[in-house]
Amino acid sequence: MNDQVSDTAKGLEDPRDKHPKPPFNKQFQPFPGLAGKMDPVPDHGEKSYVGSGRLAGRKALITGGDSGIGRAAAIAFAREGADVAINYLPEEESDAQEVITLIEEAGRKAVAIPGDLREESFCEKLVHDAADQLGGLDILVNNAGHQKSNESILDISTEAFDRTMKTNIYAPFWIIKAALRHLKPGSSIIGLSSVQAYDPSADLYDYAQTKAATTSYVKSLAKQLGPKGIRVNGVAPGPVWTALEVSGGQTQENLVKFGDDTAFGRPGQPAELASIFVQLADNTGSFATGQIYGSAGGSGQP
Ligand code: NAD
Ligand code: MG
Repeated sequence: MNDQVSDTAKGLEDPRDKHPKPPFNKQFQPFPGLAGKMDPVPDHGEKSYVGSGRLAGRKALITGGDSGIGRAAAIAFAREGADVAINYLPEEESDAQEVITLIEEAGRKAVAIPGDLREESFCEKLVHDAADQLGGLDILVNNAGHQKSNESILDISTEAFDRTMKTNIYAPFWIIKAALRHLKPGSSIIGLSSVQAYDPSADLYDYAQTKAATTSYVKSLAKQLGPKGIRVNGVAPGPVWTALEVSGGQTQENLVKFGDDTAFGRPGQPAELASIFVQLADNTGSFATGQIYGSAGGSGQP
């Protein structure tokens, strides 16, 4: 038996008690929030993700790579052999620097490009700088997202609506357009959908529609770019313990019981989604395009 097999045989992990369960302490951080200040601090795979060269030599850009699901993807990509550029907001520098250190500890090149994705000119510069510093680009993860809970549609100002749309819909549009000149056949684009695309919550009127839009852009673009050899897929998480949820994404009431309605009675941790991103980027997943991969703890697909 090789080491890998014996390790697996040793360690069955029970998904029910693998990670923290509600009730969680009430906590609020101003947007965008820091993973490092959450209680408990999310598990992004820092201590657990083991790579096996699946993305050797690949070059990835991950928006929102400082924290949460994007950080889990960044750690996994680096440990699989990819060089990784991350984008984030300037307020998130401390989270971002932790990720930069983790990528470098994996022996890969790390590129940090802070900036606000609501500006078209910044999105273009981001892609240009990432490709320039990485020496190319063949994995693009449009992961950054804005979510703000509002009890009523009447509470959503035009400015707030615009922030959600610009971050979640316009930014991927601008970034993909800028990235196309770099993406060669074999490249992979990954978008972040959500259970909200299929079963929207009453308090996420604006956010939910951006996730439905993401599902649709993934399916449209997969058909458009398939003939060019570029794959486009999406990931649809359920409740995952991240900074977005403690910085206005959920009401305090929902946060305390966050994830209690899943089959395991707990939210997911970012680390539990990392391998999906690897699979979608890897050459071995070459027939998967236009697909939405769910990871929601028991519900969430149509
Ligand atoms: P997160 O807060 O850790 O990550 C979101 C990131 O978006 C932030 O780190 C920030 O860098 C970035 N961002 C937001 N506005 C930005 C802007 N204007 N300019 C640049 N960057 C900006 O939270 P997360 O939960 O890991 O979110 C990642 C993705 O997963 C999002 O698209 C989110 O909608 C999606 N998602 C999350 C959940 C969940 O339960 N956490 C469920 C379904 C989908
Ligand atoms: Mg963050």
